Amino acid sequence: MNAKQKNKSGKMDFALAKTEIVGVAHNSGALVSGVAAAEAFEVAPAGRRPADLLPNASSVLVIGGAQPRAGDWQSPNYQHMEVTTTSDRIQGLALKLARIVEDHYGYYAVCVPPGVDQGQQAFMSISMAADLAGCGSTSLAGPVLHSEYGFMYYGAVITTMPLPADGPLETPACPAPECVEMYAAEGTTPCTNVCPIGSGGCLGGRVEAGRIVERQYDRARCTTRVQNYWVPGFQKVLGETLREKDAEKQKMKLYSSMFSRTLWSMTYSNVSQGQCAECMRVCPVGLAHRTKR
Ligand code: SF4
Ligand code: SF4
Repeated sequence: MNAKQKNKSGKMDFALAKTEIVGVAHNSGALVSGVAAAEAFEVAPAGRRPADLLPNASSVLVIGGAQPRAGDWQSPNYQHMEVTTTSDRIQGLALKLARIVEDHYGYYAVCVPPGVDQGQQAFMSISMAADLAGCGSTSLAGPVLHSEYGFMYYGAVITTMPLPADGPLETPACPAPECVEMYAAEGTTPCTNVCPIGSGGCLGGRVEAGRIVERQYDRARCTTRVQNYWVPGFQKVLGETLREKDAEKQKMKLYSSMFSRTLWSMTYSNVSQGQCAECMRVCPVGLAHRTKR
């Protein structure tokens, strides 16, 4: 890494430093990377902005990757995804980059935690960071999508280092051309069709002139389908088990498939894994990338 040495005026070459850091990220498995200016997060709620986690924050470095394998989308036993993990790899890589920023370049760096703060709120929206850094764009279904790779996991590092910022994508990945056509013909898209908010599902919205102009999302209903196991599942079973007066029934609940899978999910899938994702399964964005023989 030469950013400090190459600077003739005695100042750090931040563009070169950025190239070096994202080079490490891509060599370590990141599919995409980008930088958002900390000031771009003024659209985030107060208390959920970069400087709320790191005083004098200047930049947010975002990396994406650690996708489920293409084969995972083909498996008829979707439960296998509930007791494994891929998303922690991107968090591990974010930690590595934070350490490089601090140890090599001498600036503060904080990884945005993937867990939640008070009120079940994210410490800072990693999805917003990915969108602002141009690593993808938010979709009608919810996740940030990359036009070539589709769905992936993201990690974000807040730093006081003034890295040159990238902007949001000019052309969003969602809606895909196929979805625009489908909406014109049927008034729905693959994701809103598979999980329609008006018929017991979670998603709705409107497409106009090839852009999403309105989005409806039933978060509470989706959560019950996405986090059956993992932390919410653990809390639910634990409460039921503590209330159970019958010792035999209590034992059955503790050793049930539900509770066992919940514990596997929490210990081996240490960041929440989607346990539904039917909206992503039908999404055409990234389909070519996840189509194999
Ligand atoms: S994850 Fe499942 S429940 Fe949630 S919006 Fe997608 S299809 Fe609907
Ligand atoms: S299926 Fe995918 S690309 Fe199409 S509208 Fe839904 S999220 Fe967007």
